Amino acid sequence: MAQERIDKILAFLGVGTRKEVKKICRSGAVTVNGVPVKDSSEKIDPETDELVFDGQVLHYRKHIYVMLNKPAGVISATEDYLHKTVTDILPEEYQVFEPFPVGRLDKDTEGLLILTNDGQFSHQLLSPKKHVDKMYYVEVNRSLTEGKILELEQGVTLEDGYHTMPAKVQMLVGEEVAEQIIPQGLQAVIPEQPVSPYCKQRFLLTIQEGKFHQIKRMAEAVGSEVVYLKRLSMGNIILDSKLSLGDCRELTEEEINNF
Ligand code: URA
Repeated sequence: MAQERIDKILAFLGVGTRKEVKKICRSGAVTVNGVPVKDSSEKIDPETDELVFDGQVLHYRKHIYVMLNKPAGVISATEDYLHKTVTDILPEEYQVFEPFPVGRLDKDTEGLLILTNDGQFSHQLLSPKKHVDKMYYVEVNRSLTEGKILELEQGVTLEDGYHTMPAKVQMLVGEEVAEQIIPQGLQAVIPEQPVSPYCKQRFLLTIQEGKFHQIKRMAEAVGSEVVYLKRLSMGNIILDSKLSLGDCRELTEEEINNF
Protein backbone atom coordinates (compact mmCIF):
# COMPACT_ATOMS: atom_id res chain seq x y z
CA MET A 1 0.00 0.00 0.00
CA ALA A 2 1.10 3.56 -0.66
CA GLN A 3 2.82 5.46 2.12
CA GLU A 4 0.64 7.87 4.09
CA ARG A 5 1.41 10.62 6.59
CA ILE A 6 1.15 9.51 10.21
CA ASP A 7 -1.03 12.48 11.19
CA LYS A 8 -3.46 11.68 8.39
CA ILE A 9 -3.67 8.03 9.41
CA LEU A 10 -4.21 8.91 13.07
CA ALA A 11 -6.90 11.45 12.20
CA PHE A 12 -8.59 8.84 9.96
CA LEU A 13 -8.60 6.45 12.87
CA GLY A 14 -10.30 9.01 15.07
CA VAL A 15 -7.36 9.54 17.44
CA GLY A 16 -7.87 13.29 17.10
CA THR A 17 -7.80 16.17 14.67
CA ARG A 18 -4.57 16.68 12.72
CA LYS A 19 -3.59 19.40 15.18
CA GLU A 20 -4.30 17.24 18.23
CA VAL A 21 -2.47 14.33 16.65
CA LYS A 22 0.68 16.44 16.20
CA LYS A 23 0.68 17.20 19.93
CA ILE A 24 0.02 13.57 20.84
CA CYS A 25 3.00 12.49 18.72
CA ARG A 26 5.27 15.07 20.32
CA SER A 27 4.32 13.63 23.73
CA GLY A 28 5.76 10.25 22.64
CA ALA A 29 2.47 8.34 22.91
CA VAL A 30 2.70 7.00 19.35
CA THR A 31 5.23 4.47 18.09
CA VAL A 32 5.93 2.99 14.68
CA ASN A 33 7.57 -0.45 14.79
CA GLY A 34 8.46 0.25 18.41
CA VAL A 35 10.11 3.61 17.77
CA PRO A 36 8.43 6.73 19.19
CA VAL A 37 7.21 9.15 16.52
CA LYS A 38 8.32 12.71 16.96
CA ASP A 39 7.34 14.16 13.61
CA SER A 40 3.75 13.31 12.66
CA SER A 41 4.30 14.41 9.06
CA GLU A 42 6.52 11.35 8.46
CA LYS A 43 5.12 8.76 6.10
CA ILE A 44 4.65 5.05 6.81
CA ASP A 45 3.00 2.10 5.10
CA PRO A 46 -0.09 1.63 7.28
CA GLU A 47 -0.53 -1.98 6.18
CA THR A 48 2.94 -3.25 7.06
CA ASP A 49 4.23 -0.83 9.72
CA GLU A 50 2.96 -1.39 13.25
CA LEU A 51 1.37 1.76 14.58
CA VAL A 52 0.73 1.89 18.33
CA PHE A 53 -1.05 4.58 20.32
CA ASP A 54 -1.17 4.43 24.13
CA GLY A 55 -0.04 0.81 24.05
CA GLN A 56 -2.74 -0.28 21.57
CA VAL A 57 -2.04 -1.49 18.04
CA LEU A 58 -4.12 0.57 15.59
CA HIS A 59 -5.69 -1.11 12.61
CA TYR A 60 -5.74 1.26 9.71
CA ARG A 61 -8.66 1.53 7.40
CA LYS A 62 -9.09 3.86 4.55
CA HIS A 63 -12.80 3.73 3.92
CA ILE A 64 -15.87 4.46 5.93
CA TYR A 65 -19.46 3.45 5.21
CA VAL A 66 -22.21 5.14 7.19
CA MET A 67 -25.97 4.77 7.22
CA LEU A 68 -27.80 7.97 8.15
CA ASN A 69 -31.49 8.38 8.90
CA LYS A 70 -31.69 11.70 7.10
CA PRO A 71 -34.03 14.23 8.62
CA ALA A 72 -35.91 16.79 6.52
CA GLY A 73 -34.23 20.19 6.29
CA VAL A 74 -30.67 19.09 5.53
CA ILE A 75 -29.28 18.85 2.05
CA SER A 76 -27.47 15.94 0.43
CA ALA A 77 -24.14 17.64 -0.15
CA THR A 78 -20.80 17.97 1.59
CA GLU A 79 -20.76 21.78 1.68
CA ASP A 80 -23.30 24.54 1.45
CA TYR A 81 -23.02 28.15 2.53
CA LEU A 82 -26.73 28.47 3.34
CA HIS A 83 -28.01 25.16 4.62
CA LYS A 84 -26.91 22.39 6.93
CA THR A 85 -25.60 19.42 4.99
CA VAL A 86 -25.77 15.71 5.70
CA THR A 87 -22.04 15.66 6.47
CA ASP A 88 -22.42 18.56 8.94
CA ILE A 89 -24.68 16.39 11.09
CA LEU A 90 -22.32 13.39 11.24
CA PRO A 91 -20.19 12.88 14.36
CA GLU A 92 -16.64 14.22 14.00
CA GLU A 93 -15.17 10.71 14.15
CA TYR A 94 -16.84 10.05 10.77
CA GLN A 95 -16.22 13.52 9.33
CA VAL A 96 -12.43 13.01 9.38
CA PHE A 97 -12.87 10.41 6.64
CA GLU A 98 -14.40 13.10 4.41
CA PRO A 99 -17.43 11.05 3.39
CA PHE A 100 -19.87 12.13 0.68
CA PRO A 101 -23.47 11.06 0.15
CA VAL A 102 -24.15 8.15 -2.21
CA GLY A 103 -26.72 9.84 -4.42
CA ARG A 104 -29.13 12.45 -3.19
CA LEU A 105 -32.30 12.76 -1.26
CA ASP A 106 -34.26 16.00 -1.59
CA LYS A 107 -34.10 18.47 1.28
CA ASP A 108 -37.58 17.47 2.45
CA THR A 109 -37.04 13.70 2.02
CA GLU A 110 -36.24 11.55 5.04
CA GLY A 111 -34.74 8.13 5.51
CA LEU A 112 -31.86 6.02 4.34
CA LEU A 113 -28.83 7.87 3.07
CA ILE A 114 -25.46 6.17 2.79
CA LEU A 115 -22.27 8.18 3.09
CA THR A 116 -18.83 6.89 2.20
CA ASN A 117 -15.42 7.99 0.99
CA ASP A 118 -15.18 4.90 -1.25
CA GLY A 119 -15.86 6.10 -4.78
CA GLN A 120 -16.03 2.59 -6.20
CA PHE A 121 -18.65 1.48 -3.68
CA SER A 122 -20.72 4.57 -4.40
CA HIS A 123 -20.48 3.98 -8.13
CA GLN A 124 -21.58 0.36 -7.75
CA LEU A 125 -24.62 1.31 -5.68
CA LEU A 126 -25.68 4.02 -8.11
CA SER A 127 -24.77 2.51 -11.46
CA PRO A 128 -27.95 2.05 -13.55
CA LYS A 129 -26.37 -1.14 -14.92
CA LYS A 130 -26.42 -2.71 -11.43
CA HIS A 131 -30.18 -2.15 -11.02
CA VAL A 132 -29.97 -1.69 -7.25
CA ASP A 133 -33.59 -1.33 -6.10
CA LYS A 134 -34.47 1.68 -4.00
CA MET A 135 -37.62 1.39 -1.95
CA TYR A 136 -39.53 4.49 -0.83
CA TYR A 137 -42.50 5.02 1.43
CA VAL A 138 -44.69 7.54 -0.37
CA GLU A 139 -47.67 9.65 0.72
CA VAL A 140 -49.68 11.47 -1.96
CA ASN A 141 -52.41 14.06 -1.69
CA ARG A 142 -54.72 12.57 -4.36
CA SER A 143 -55.58 8.88 -4.51
CA LEU A 144 -54.48 6.99 -7.57
CA THR A 145 -56.81 4.63 -9.39
CA GLU A 146 -55.71 1.06 -10.13
CA GLY A 147 -55.06 2.16 -13.71
CA LYS A 148 -52.71 4.95 -12.57
CA ILE A 149 -50.88 2.58 -10.24
CA LEU A 150 -50.37 0.19 -13.14
CA GLU A 151 -48.99 3.09 -15.17
CA LEU A 152 -46.50 3.86 -12.40
CA GLU A 153 -45.41 0.23 -12.45
CA GLN A 154 -45.09 -0.04 -16.20
CA GLY A 155 -43.30 3.28 -16.63
CA VAL A 156 -44.54 6.84 -17.02
CA THR A 157 -43.33 9.67 -19.21
CA LEU A 158 -41.97 12.54 -17.13
CA GLU A 159 -42.39 16.19 -18.14
CA ASP A 160 -38.97 16.20 -19.83
CA GLY A 161 -39.90 13.22 -22.01
CA TYR A 162 -37.97 10.60 -20.01
CA HIS A 163 -39.79 7.27 -19.73
CA THR A 164 -39.21 5.60 -16.38
CA MET A 165 -38.13 1.97 -16.03
CA PRO A 166 -40.55 -0.63 -14.62
CA ALA A 167 -41.24 -0.07 -10.92
CA LYS A 168 -43.16 -1.87 -8.18
CA VAL A 169 -46.01 -0.48 -6.09
CA GLN A 170 -47.19 -2.07 -2.84
CA MET A 171 -50.28 -0.44 -1.41
CA LEU A 172 -50.59 0.26 2.32
CA VAL A 173 -54.30 0.22 3.01
CA GLY A 174 -55.58 1.94 6.15
CA GLU A 175 -53.56 0.88 9.17
CA GLU A 176 -52.72 -2.46 7.64
CA VAL A 177 -49.25 -3.24 6.45
CA ALA A 178 -49.60 -6.35 4.31
CA GLU A 179 -46.89 -8.35 6.04
CA GLN A 180 -46.65 -11.12 3.50
CA ILE A 181 -45.57 -8.81 0.67
CA ILE A 182 -43.08 -6.71 2.60
CA PRO A 183 -39.53 -8.01 3.06
CA GLN A 184 -38.38 -8.70 6.61
CA GLY A 185 -36.99 -5.76 8.51
CA LEU A 186 -38.96 -3.20 6.54
CA GLN A 187 -42.14 -3.19 8.60
CA ALA A 188 -40.33 -1.46 11.44
CA VAL A 189 -39.36 1.55 9.30
CA ILE A 190 -42.74 2.07 7.62
CA PRO A 191 -44.63 4.82 9.48
CA GLU A 192 -47.59 3.29 11.29
CA GLN A 193 -49.76 6.32 10.54
CA PRO A 194 -49.69 8.87 7.71
CA VAL A 195 -47.07 11.52 8.43
CA SER A 196 -48.55 14.35 6.38
CA PRO A 197 -51.97 15.80 7.23
CA TYR A 198 -52.54 16.02 3.44
CA CYS A 199 -52.01 12.30 2.86
CA LYS A 200 -54.85 10.66 0.89
CA GLN A 201 -53.05 7.46 -0.03
CA ARG A 202 -49.80 5.76 0.95
CA PHE A 203 -47.75 3.07 -0.71
CA LEU A 204 -44.29 1.63 -1.17
CA LEU A 205 -42.65 2.38 -4.49
CA THR A 206 -39.55 0.52 -5.60
CA ILE A 207 -37.52 1.96 -8.45
CA GLN A 208 -34.29 0.84 -10.08
CA GLU A 209 -32.98 4.25 -11.05
CA GLY A 210 -32.47 7.60 -9.38
CA LYS A 211 -33.32 10.51 -11.63
CA PHE A 212 -33.62 13.99 -10.16
CA HIS A 213 -36.85 14.26 -8.09
CA GLN A 214 -37.87 10.98 -9.65
CA ILE A 215 -40.66 9.89 -7.29
CA LYS A 216 -42.18 13.36 -7.13
CA ARG A 217 -42.14 13.63 -10.90
CA MET A 218 -43.61 10.14 -11.30
CA ALA A 219 -46.47 11.08 -8.96
CA GLU A 220 -47.06 14.26 -10.96
CA ALA A 221 -47.10 12.26 -14.19
CA VAL A 222 -50.14 10.37 -12.88
CA GLY A 223 -51.90 13.48 -11.58
CA SER A 224 -50.96 13.45 -7.91
CA GLU A 225 -48.41 15.09 -5.61
CA VAL A 226 -46.00 13.66 -3.04
CA VAL A 227 -46.62 15.13 0.41
CA TYR A 228 -44.17 12.94 2.34
CA LEU A 229 -41.28 10.78 1.17
CA LYS A 230 -38.96 8.44 3.04
CA ARG A 231 -36.36 6.08 1.61
CA LEU A 232 -36.49 2.68 3.29
CA SER A 233 -33.85 0.64 1.49
CA MET A 234 -31.21 0.44 -1.21
CA GLY A 235 -30.72 -3.13 -2.39
CA ASN A 236 -30.34 -5.29 0.72
CA ILE A 237 -29.44 -2.32 2.91
CA ILE A 238 -32.50 -1.49 4.98
CA LEU A 239 -32.79 1.61 7.15
CA ASP A 240 -32.05 0.54 10.73
CA SER A 241 -35.22 1.01 12.79
CA LYS A 242 -33.08 1.81 15.84
CA LEU A 243 -31.86 5.03 14.21
CA SER A 244 -33.89 8.11 15.08
CA LEU A 245 -33.96 10.96 12.57
CA GLY A 246 -30.46 12.44 12.34
CA ASP A 247 -28.77 9.37 13.83
CA CYS A 248 -26.26 7.20 12.00
CA ARG A 249 -24.20 4.05 12.33
CA GLU A 250 -21.53 2.30 10.28
CA LEU A 251 -22.64 -0.32 7.76
CA THR A 252 -21.90 -3.92 8.69
CA GLU A 253 -19.50 -6.08 6.62
CA GLU A 254 -22.54 -7.95 5.31
CA GLU A 255 -24.25 -4.72 4.17
CA ILE A 256 -21.05 -3.49 2.49
CA ASN A 257 -20.36 -6.73 0.66
CA ASN A 258 -23.85 -7.93 -0.22
CA PHE A 259 -25.94 -4.94 -1.12
N1 URA B 1 -37.37 10.91 -5.56
C1 URA B 1 -37.68 12.17 -5.20
O1 URA B 1 -38.54 12.79 -5.81
N2 URA B 1 -37.01 12.73 -4.17
C2 URA B 1 -36.07 12.09 -3.45
O2 URA B 1 -35.52 12.65 -2.51
C3 URA B 1 -35.77 10.77 -3.83
C4 URA B 1 -36.43 10.21 -4.88
